[in-house]
Amino acid sequence: MDKKGDKMTKLSMNKFINMTVSDMNRRNVMEPNFDKYPTGVNENKISFTEYDDDQLMNCPICGFNCTHITGVEVFARGEDAEEHIHTAVDMEEMSTKVENVKGHGRNPSGRRDGLILSGYCESGCKFDIEIAQHKGNTFFKSIKTGKIKDD
Ligand SMILES: [Zn+2]
Repeated sequence: MDKKGDKMTKLSMNKFINMTVSDMNRRNVMEPNFDKYPTGVNENKISFTEYDDDQLMNCPICGFNCTHITGVEVFARGEDAEEHIHTAVDMEEMSTKVENVKGHGRNPSGRRDGLILSGYCESGCKFDIEIAQHKGNTFFKSIKTGKIKDD
């Protein structure tokens, strides 16, 4: 007589990973990008200045409340899909670019959808604000991308 559980297959971790990867290849999906998983310390946190009943976004790098958003990128991807649609709007150049991208590209999410807001503050910081979908949470991460030149 079969005992309960006898039909379950026990797999070594290597066998499990190999099966999972070949299943992903069959379904035309890619492995998650573990580099983009939200770990570590986010040093540049977004804060707001209360202004009457409104909120002003402070520069995520230096905290100054005079900021400008100059670009938006949208990454539309099904979970672990091999390709995603990257839409980039450059508000300074007044241009929009839409393309299919294989792999992770600039998508801040290692597995799903993402957004990047690009901008600068009036004290000279340039920044990207990355917004990444990760399971049931939406993560914000800000990155200094340079300084605005004085002249
Ligand atoms: Zn700043």
